[in-house]
Amino acid sequence: MADLEQFRQEVRAWIEANAPAGLRGTRKGRFDGYWGGRLHPEPDPDVKRWFDACLERGWTAPTWPAEYGGGGLSRAEAEIIDEEMERVKVPPPLVGFGLVMIGPTLLDFGTDEQKAEHLPKIVRGEVRWCQGYSEPGAGSDLAGLQTRAEIQGDKVIVNGQKVWTSYADKSDWIFALVRTDPDAKKQEGITFLLIDMLQDGVTTRTIDLISGWSPFCEVFFDNAVAETKNIVGGINKGWTVAKALLGYERSMIGKAIEGQLAGTEQELAASARAHLGRDDGPLPDASLRQQLALYSIDEQCYAQTARRIAETAQATGAPGPESSIMKVAGSELKQRRWELATRIAGLHGIGWDGEPFSEDELNTTRQWLRSRANTIEGGSTEIQLNIIAKRVLGLPS
Ligand SMILES: Cc1cc2nc3c(=O)[nH]c(=O)nc-3n(C[C@H](O)[C@H](O)[C@H](O)COP(=O)(O)OP(=O)(O)OC[C@H]3O[C@@H](n4cnc5c(N)ncnc54)[C@H](O)[C@@H]3O)c2cc1C
Repeated sequence: MADLEQFRQEVRAWIEANAPAGLRGTRKGRFDGYWGGRLHPEPDPDVKRWFDACLERGWTAPTWPAEYGGGGLSRAEAEIIDEEMERVKVPPPLVGFGLVMIGPTLLDFGTDEQKAEHLPKIVRGEVRWCQGYSEPGAGSDLAGLQTRAEIQGDKVIVNGQKVWTSYADKSDWIFALVRTDPDAKKQEGITFLLIDMLQDGVTTRTIDLISGWSPFCEVFFDNAVAETKNIVGGINKGWTVAKALLGYERSMIGKAIEGQLAGTEQELAASARAHLGRDDGPLPDASLRQQLALYSIDEQCYAQTARRIAETAQATGAPGPESSIMKVAGSELKQRRWELATRIAGLHGIGWDGEPFSEDELNTTRQWLRSRANTIEGGSTEIQLNIIAKRVLGLPS
């Protein structure tokens, strides 16, 4: 513990000395920051300076082994770095699905060659990844996926379609689930494959969300070519790898929500005061007061539970099925936050664009609409409840 306290002091001093003034106070959450990648335009000079300084210390991926460019630190130490960045509201140096999804999965399941090839490129922000799981006929029933892959020597030829692929249009590589044995039981004919997206055989098309934003895409594989050396976990053995990655994904979503919700009860209360014209004392609307209090209690409980689960994961090294609990609770809480924000703002909370409504994340209407997807993305609430029933509570199927 004394060591960790000393570590914290060192981290604090280093951040003080190195975090560019222009970035302090700009952090929005744990997962808002520089995404890197070949398609990403050169970042602004402060972001680049901060990224380079952290990279040199291995702090773009603090817990990854130093041989891949990581910091070789414990989860507790990484948590301290994150807390100290949060303290001065400086964004993480690098974010993305490489760091939180495919990277940890490769550390668990990748060959030495795969780790050496892909992990340093993630750490250095050179390659941005997206997730090619869902298909038009395979979302909750993911194992029913139809994208076909045929092994031809040391090549894999891929044909089919993915959908809802977040940031596919901005990504360089995709980790995809493909069917390599159409005759086997559905989970047993699936292979986990890494595919370079910058080739003629891969095209992407953005999909507009009801919020007016387009964070995700359809991805089409038309004789796309991958290499057998980029099969993770073995041919037809992808289902185990796929499930492990979903654990990392849910855990990432849970943590992201924790960061996004921290302090929101104060924001909502301040907004209620402003809209109801009450500077101090109890809010005049009793039902709103009660909803705000309930939200505040649940937000605190969520943060405490997230911390307890994170500590368990520190001991075991990987997220357990509890990540489904955080996914369900966090996404419902996030929806309540935007319900409340909309209710509080009244007519001022309903608007699409033009004065006084911005078109960015400050727009309450768009955020409320975007939050409808929270209980779907990363696996729907109903599916998470099934996982909790089976794997956490041990109920019969
Ligand atoms: C914003 C967003 C980003 C996403 N990003 C990605 C991404 O990057 N990569 C990717 O691969 N996918 C992504 N997805 C897809 C996401 O994983 C799927 O939408 C999700 O798994 C649900 O699948 P579906 O949309 O096909 O719905 P369906 O599976 O068709 O489900 C429809 C409804 O039926 C319910 N249902 C289905 N089966 C059952 C059951 N057995 N028991 C009870 N209820 C059931 C569901 O809960 C849901 O309410 C994203 C989705 C969203 C909304």
